[in-house]
Amino acid sequence: MTDPAAPGIAGAAQETVRAVLWQVWPMCPEHRTGVRMDARADDRAVWWCRAGVGHELVEVGELAQTPPAGSA
Ligand SMILES: [Zn+2]
Repeated sequence: MTDPAAPGIAGAAQETVRAVLWQVWPMCPEHRTGVRMDARADDRAVWWCRAGVGHELVEVGELAQTPPAGSA
């Protein structure tokens, strides 16, 4: 590859894909399993992990502030 800009472009594309995937189908960083959107009794919409007895991952809309596991 001779284009000096190529590595930067590839890196940016990878970042975008990762961000989109996280937004569309978040994963529980603890259980490495897919989560689904769920409505709680108090009318909050949350991402719910189905591992074990299940647990709330994060409130819907807060994913943008929650980086995927392993990104650090
Ligand atoms: Zn979980």
